[in-house]
Amino acid sequence: MPDCIFCKIVAGQIPCTKVYEDDACLAFLDIGPIAPCHTLLIPKKHYETIRDMPPDEAARLARALPRLATAVQAAAAADSLNLLQANGKAAGQEVPHVHFHLIPRRPGDGLGYHWPAKKADFAVLAKEAEAIRRRLGTQ
Ligand code: AMP
Ligand code: ZN
Repeated sequence: MPDCIFCKIVAGQIPCTKVYEDDACLAFLDIGPIAPCHTLLIPKKHYETIRDMPPDEAARLARALPRLATAVQAAAAADSLNLLQANGKAAGQEVPHVHFHLIPRRPGDGLGYHWPAKKADFAVLAKEAEAIRRRLGTQ
C-alpha cells in the first residue's frame, strides 16, 4: 500500500526501532509511547482492520503475542500489560494498517481508560447475542 506508513516501515523506506521480526510480522517501538517499551506488532502484509485479515494471517500475528508480551513487560520492569487493537476511526485507529499495541502497565501509572460500564438488561443481551450468532452463521 504505497501511502501506508507501516507498509513503508516493512519495506525499509522509513526507519523503525525493531524488536522482533518473522516472515509474517514485525514489532517495533511506538514513536509516541505512552509507557516505556510501548511496542507495536503489525502484519507485514497490508490489512486495514482485523476484519480484513484471513484467519490464518491473523493467527500468525497472534502467535507472536505471548512471547512478545512477556519480553516487553519484563523489559519495562512492569507488572501488567494492556493489548490494544483499534479498528476504525471511532475506535481510535489512526494508522489504517492492523496493529496491536503492547503497553506495559504499573500500579498508579495514571494511564487508565474511559470505560463507562452500565448495568446489563438481559433481554437486550439476548437480542444482541442472537444478532451476532446470526452473522456468525451459528444458529
Ligand atoms: P492507533 O491510534 O491505534 O492507530 O495507533 C497508531 C500508533 O502508531 C500511534 O501510537 C503512533 O504513535 C504510532 N506511530 C505512527 N507512526 C509511527 C512510526 N513511524 N513509527 C512508530 N510508531 C508510529
Ligand atoms: Zn500498510
